[in-house]
Amino acid sequence: MQITPIKDWGHPFNHPLIMSGPCSVESEQQVKETAQQLKDFNIDILRGGIWKPRTRPNSFEGIGSVGLKWLKEAGASIGKPVATEVANVKHVYEALRMGIDILWIGARTTVNPFAVQEICDALQGVDIPVLVKNPINPDLELWIGALERLNRSGITKLAAIHRGFSTHEKSKYRNIPRWNIPIELKRRYPDLPIICDPSHICGNRDLLREVAQTALDIGFEGLHLESHTCPDKALSDAKQQLTPEAFGHLVSSLHARISIEENPLAENQLEVLRNRIDDLDKYLLEVLSERMDVVRDIAEYKRENNLAIVQPSRWTEILESRLDTGMRKQLTDKFIKELFHAVHKESIHHQTQIMLNGEENAMIKGNGEPMNNKNK
Ligand code: PEP
Ligand code: MN
Repeated sequence: MQITPIKDWGHPFNHPLIMSGPCSVESEQQVKETAQQLKDFNIDILRGGIWKPRTRPNSFEGIGSVGLKWLKEAGASIGKPVATEVANVKHVYEALRMGIDILWIGARTTVNPFAVQEICDALQGVDIPVLVKNPINPDLELWIGALERLNRSGITKLAAIHRGFSTHEKSKYRNIPRWNIPIELKRRYPDLPIICDPSHICGNRDLLREVAQTALDIGFEGLHLESHTCPDKALSDAKQQLTPEAFGHLVSSLHARISIEENPLAENQLEVLRNRIDDLDKYLLEVLSERMDVVRDIAEYKRENNLAIVQPSRWTEILESRLDTGMRKQLTDKFIKELFHAVHKESIHHQTQIMLNGEENAMIKGNGEPMNNKNK
């Protein structure tokens, strides 16, 4: 993908970039007052939803096109560019006509390649930044697909918004972050900026700071936090919005991290630590490989003595003792369980291979016994 860095988007954005404003534009007064109250907190982009994708009908589905002018004027009154969500071609044309500066594609649109492609076709030849929210389901390829479609239609001022993933699991989040997904996106496209949206991840105000700080610690390029003059009365996402004042408070309590490129000294020290990690990983793999050698010896023994591969009591004993040792070494029980389940799975794989090969060799030699003669 060909990506234009945020500093070349034509706006004097800060690092990290901060985007705030109401979930929905509800009235001219509401969006203009929100903008005025945000003025002191140095935001980079004023956001406001005009068309709202609601789960059930009969909820507030957005003020519609009339709100575009209010949003644009609210941004102009504080000298900031404005952004809104577009979900179809009509939205794109209306937003462009009103001079909306930045568009975003919502999570419910990113899941649908037909909808994304129609938006891309409507944006052909238009030089506007587009932010792409992750799809509601944890599908990295779908997220990348939407970004690629936009890029192929000439949009290079692109960024991803990480807003968490829908889940049926019990969770303290409205949408669980699954940090590994945006981190993998960053690994594949290091130039693609990622903005974290703690508001839609958390779904409530209590967890916002923790999630926002984690995003900065990881090294994301920006934050997206919803704000409203009177959050409890908001017509959408009331529980997660902050007053502009609380927003300012939260942002000023965060620690921005600097990137390695800005601090070459850190690069050298990190290099030393990374070399240690490389050595330790090599050692880890050697130990695992040696463990599998022993596993194969065990499998040979089991085959010769006609013993079943899995001995449940032994597996329980391994898990319990490794949990005990690992936790004393400051490793989480979730990690130890996952690690040893993976090791066990690999061991079973090696053992079944040895059993099968042994059977085959026996058959070739003609001394394989039919199953019902075994254990006599
Ligand atoms: C929003 O930003 O208000 C919104 C609807 O977000 P999402 O697409 O992430 O649910
Ligand atoms: Mn919202």
